Amino acid sequence: MSASRRAAGPEATAATRLSPREMLARLIAFDTTSAGSNLALIDFARAYLAEHGIESRLTYDDSRAKANLYASVGPAGPGGVVLSGHTDVVPVAGQPWQSDPFTLTERDGRLYGRGTSDMKSFIALALALVPEMLAAGLKRPLHLALSYDEELGCLGAPRMIADIAANLPKPAIVIVGEPTRLKLGNRHKGCYGFQIDIQGRDGHSSATHRGVNAITHAAAVVGFIEAIAERHRREGPFDRGFDPPYTTLNVGEIAGGSAVNIIARHCRLGWEFRPIPAVDPSRVIAEVETYLAEVLRPRLSARAPEAKAEMWADCVVPPLVPRSDSPAADLVRRLTGANETIGLAFATEAGQFQEIGIDAIVCGPGSIEQAHQPDEFIELSQIAEGEAFLRRLIAWAAA
Ligand SMILES: [Zn+2]
Repeated sequence: MSASRRAAGPEATAATRLSPREMLARLIAFDTTSAGSNLALIDFARAYLAEHGIESRLTYDDSRAKANLYASVGPAGPGGVVLSGHTDVVPVAGQPWQSDPFTLTERDGRLYGRGTSDMKSFIALALALVPEMLAAGLKRPLHLALSYDEELGCLGAPRMIADIAANLPKPAIVIVGEPTRLKLGNRHKGCYGFQIDIQGRDGHSSATHRGVNAITHAAAVVGFIEAIAERHRREGPFDRGFDPPYTTLNVGEIAGGSAVNIIARHCRLGWEFRPIPAVDPSRVIAEVETYLAEVLRPRLSARAPEAKAEMWADCVVPPLVPRSDSPAADLVRRLTGANETIGLAFATEAGQFQEIGIDAIVCGPGSIEQAHQPDEFIELSQIAEGEAFLRRLIAWAAA
């Protein structure tokens, strides 16, 4: 999509201008908890960008209650830098907040509100500086990429990324502005989530030989997954940039059965694994799939023809794999003066951009320690540093 820029004229000055802080206050006021719609925020951003002559491209979820927004400033064509952030936030329910989480509130050099660190400050800075991007006469484009449902497992961004890959000139670099205190995050683990659904055959608990207990078979799957986890813990591979330094597997959900005196007909379990970049995720998945195909399903069907086991992915977030030759890392090093790279404990959308061949790194204001907490805040000094960082980026793109 080309950014059609309006000629500078009297009407151009009528477009809304907000300071980063004013912009952040507007964004915080939209309750974009992942369970609900983010369209009010997206409509606001789209209208604001349109006032500045910038066209937005939206990609929706199936319900059309949520959307990603992608917009480009500067020359049309490939290259340039994507500023990427998720618009959704985690719930505040049950958390003790000292002030309204959806009203930006200053106390002691900090701005409080849900999403201040994770990660509306980065989006607010990018939006607030759009007039400066326009005035700078960019020679390389800067793109804004705002996603939905990141907090549910990076579910939204893939639709936007697929749209970019299929229909738009390819950007060169992505900066995912998750809170790193503007340190240069060049690697994180992936996160792959699955459900396994086991159907057995029910019957009276006194006649177990006539039924197929789905819980018992699910327990065998749990044991198999735990054995893989134990092997990674003991034998690696290891990556000392992470805590813990190995791939983890976790069975986090299980539900099945209906009464203690009934053979359980049904059991569902949810599991995930978080591979270090050196581990090929498809091999972990294949290991579990092979167990289902070669061990579990034959056992089930030998007992009852209708018994079965299915597995499907409900979350796919590839790891961010560090690259020795990374234009994104070089650029951010230049702009921030950071000479160290850090591994991140959390997954981001950066690996999803990397999958279509766009060099991606993670760098944004605020701290992940405040993320998801009651009384989430960002220090005013982090906003100021983030603003200076983006101004240097604009100067680079205009040079
Ligand atoms: Zn985040």
